[in-house]
Amino acid sequence: MKNKYKNIALMGAMDLEVANLKSSMKKITKTTIAGFEFYRGRIENKNVVVFKSGIGKVNGALAIAIAIEHFNVDSIIFTGVAGGVGEKVDIGDVVISSALVEHDFDLGKLGTGAKKEAQNGIFKADKELISITKKAAIEVIEKNTLYTGIIATGDQFINDKKRIDEISRKYNALAVEMEGAAIAHVAHRYKIPFVVIRSISDTANHKANVDFKKFVKFASDISHSIVMKILESI
Ligand code: SAH
Repeated sequence: MKNKYKNIALMGAMDLEVANLKSSMKKITKTTIAGFEFYRGRIENKNVVVFKSGIGKVNGALAIAIAIEHFNVDSIIFTGVAGGVGEKVDIGDVVISSALVEHDFDLGKLGTGAKKEAQNGIFKADKELISITKKAAIEVIEKNTLYTGIIATGDQFINDKKRIDEISRKYNALAVEMEGAAIAHVAHRYKIPFVVIRSISDTANHKANVDFKKFVKFASDISHSIVMKILESI
């Protein structure tokens, strides 16, 4: 496994999700393209490009596509926060993506509901990156707060129990967020391995706005610590 990952894209959607990575970097070169700031440099002696995409699917897709086209990225790790789905997944827990799905992609009655590019619109994360992430995560958090499963993405901040239950039923998702599947979709097109790591900032119910504000830093830091363990181990 040594030296396999030579140029890793490390991305988040918001400042808080990448701030610690930026301060851990050495030998930084900054490039701005389409308003995205890409920071190339080294963390734990690995070549990385760190950037914030901004919130939502278009931002996520565009930022990663630019990174791939310009910086020779060979692997992608998304680090950030998400809403927890279901009874079990709670604030501070971590969901590692087995696969991602766009919960707001709907072809209606005429369509099959499936994206042609992937099996039923489900974009699978890379097996090896998942396993590396799992190993790293259990050094940071308790095993019983770590989940690997489907993450559902859409251009909506979900703060409604009915809506989140619907997403849970339809996609069997463990977390909901706003960028992952878009990044997965682009990664799939370019055939670049990826994994999404999301620590839970809220549980997507009527308290989500308040919880998000309260826990966004706490959750971002957990996800960041896992990324640092990954970089140490590969
Ligand atoms: N009030 C904040 C909201 C950010 S949107 C602001 O205006 O800056 C929430 C971000 O965290 C997105 O990047 C998304 O990926 C993730 N997220 C966390 N909880 C979520 C939820 N309940 N629903 C959807 N996305 C969520």
